[in-house]
Order: sequence, then C-alpha cells, then structure tokens
Amino acid sequence: MKTQLVKLPFRSWWAVTGLFFILAGSGGLAQVTTTAPPQPGRESPQSAIQPPAGLPSPDAIERAVKNAYDSAKGENSGKNADYIPALAQVPSDLFGVAVVTVDGRVYKAGDVDHTFSIQSCSKIFTLCHVMQESGDKVILDKIGVEPTGDKFNSIKAIEQGAGNADNPLVNAGAIATVSLIKASNADERWEKLLNTYNRFAGEKLKLLEDVYKSEAESNFRNRGIANVLFNSKHLYAEPMECTDVYTKQCSVGVTAKQLAVMGATLANNGVNPMTKEKCIDAKYVPKVLAVMLTCGFYDESGTWTWGSGLPAKTGVGGGIVAVAPGKMAIVGFSPRLNEAGNSVRGAKAILSIDQELGLNLLAGREAPKRLGMK
Ligand code: GLN
Repeated sequence: MKTQLVKLPFRSWWAVTGLFFILAGSGGLAQVTTTAPPQPGRESPQSAIQPPAGLPSPDAIERAVKNAYDSAKGENSGKNADYIPALAQVPSDLFGVAVVTVDGRVYKAGDVDHTFSIQSCSKIFTLCHVMQESGDKVILDKIGVEPTGDKFNSIKAIEQGAGNADNPLVNAGAIATVSLIKASNADERWEKLLNTYNRFAGEKLKLLEDVYKSEAESNFRNRGIANVLFNSKHLYAEPMECTDVYTKQCSVGVTAKQLAVMGATLANNGVNPMTKEKCIDAKYVPKVLAVMLTCGFYDESGTWTWGSGLPAKTGVGGGIVAVAPGKMAIVGFSPRLNEAGNSVRGAKAILSIDQELGLNLLAGREAPKRLGMK
C-alpha cells in the first residue's frame, strides 16, 4: 500500500482551485481532495491562505477526513430506507465525506460527486427560512423545540402533547414549518424555499423528480400527520399544500460538498463562506444549532450528542450534516441507515473527524496542539 503526496506550487492553486492531492495507492485508501478558498477581489494571497485562529490546520483536517473515510468504509451494517421506493434503488455502497470550513476550504473523500436527496437535512434550512422571515418566537410559540424521543414520523408524539408538532426537525414539525412560510399559494411557497436553499448552497439546486414522484405517491403517513396537526390548529396553511411542498423540499438533490457548504453557512454565523452572502441573521443561528443538538438525530439524539457534542441533522437519503460553529461543517453520506433512520457510515465518519480534531462543543476550549490547532 503506497501513498504518494503531490504538492503543486501555490500560484497554480489560484488559477484553478485545486491545491494538492493525496493519491491513494491500490489498497483502497481514501483519496482526499482539498480545494483552496474562493478569492473574489483577492488582494493579498498570503493573508488569504491563513486559516482563521481556532481552525485546525489544513493538513490536520485533510488527515482527519482521510482517516474518517478509511475507518468507516468497512462498516456495512444497516440498510437503505425503503418506505420511499426510490431510495431503495440507490446503490448502498456509496460513501462520501466532505468538510467545508468557514474560510471556504473544501476537503472531500469518496463519492462526493453523487447527488442524493437531501431528505430531512432540509428541515434545518426551512427552519432558517421561517426564522429569517418571521423571527424565532413563532417557532417556539407555534411548533415547539422539545425532542420527542419518538420516531421521526410519529403521530403518537403529536397526540400525547398539546397537539403541536414538538420541534421543527421531526416530520410533523417540518410540515408545520412549511405552513409558516409567508406565501399565498403552493408555487410561491416552494419557490421561496428553494431560493433559500440555493443561497445556503451558493448554487442552484435541483429537484430529483424520481424521488419526488416516488415519495409523493407513497407519503400517506405524512398526509395523515398534516391532517392531525391541522385538526388541532397547529398547522397554519392548507394541509395537502404543505405536505406537497415538504415532499419537494425532501427531494432536493445535493452532493456531499453542496450540503457541507449549506452547513458551513451556519458554522459561519449565517454567511455563505463561498459567496459571502448573508443567508440568515447571526442571532438566529445558535437557536437553529440548539434544535439540531437536541433533535437532529430523532430518537437517537441523546446518544449522538453524548458521543459528539455537535449539532447535526440526518436524512433518510443517507446524508448527515454536522456543524462545528466558527469552524466547519462536516457531511457524511452513505445510504445504509440504522433503526433510527440515520446513516451508519455517515455518523461514524463524522464522529471520527469530530474526535480527531477535538470539535466537541461541550468539551471546553482546550485546543489539541498536536493536531495543528492554533
Ligand atoms: N421525506 C422523508 C419523510 O418524510 C424524510 C424523513 C427523514 O429524512 N428522516 O419521511
């Protein structure tokens, strides 16, 4: 097993965005690609290549991505979601890891160019949309921010409380969040939302029509959830319109890198690190992250936060996005899910990077110097 490191001169990095490659040998090791930050109107190349204080060094991040990929690759447990027929067709072996830092560097390993459906990772960006449009109080008052301890599509959880949707990251709460978007019809509701997603990604994202069709034909449970909420006056627009827009948001296609840019926008206080566009006011970001920390892994959220100390959100398409505030977002993508509906390899890879770089938010501020942190 031979690993070769090829470094290109700095100047050629500016012209093309690629910086350097670790070329893996034939032993199945990760090939990690690192991309330099975008430099609109750059005046000083030297200052631009210095990562902000507190961020692990590029070498340390690159090593962590490689180690995460290599350590999670052999994990074959779990299975694709199959209650949405199109998701059962996705090749189970796909596996990608992407990190995007607040200074716009991109680190990638594995199947990072594969477009998968964002599924429930979308819920955080719908939450961002509504907070930006109407403030945060509406979320607390009309939906709630309590974890359910139940499955993501639980109806019992709605009924055993006050009839509200519990939190914006379970299906009920996400459909209720869609109902709070200020719109007078379905098209307007959808276009506003997709526009917000595009700004977080810094790119135009597309609806995966096959996934949307498949889910729209089989989403009887979500239609039931919307009706139950509407009946208890905790859905704030027409139930089937909200269910349909929610189904569309789940069917948006992303690559691991695109999802990591979306997450890095949260890590960067609401400013997209690639386009520099403000996508959400900084004051709302800690609240979005709080809900991710407590509810992002559904009925596995306690275990996740125990182990990671990082806000994260999973989707049944196999994506997970975790946010280390002020530093980076990490995405693990692989379709095989555990019982709670969370990607097994994705979680393992993110935990590996989290631990290697000392990102756990609840573990204090001591930077592990040996990992190259400033
Ligand atoms: N679209 C999926 C659903 O409504 C999203 C669930 C998920 O990703 N956990 O069931």
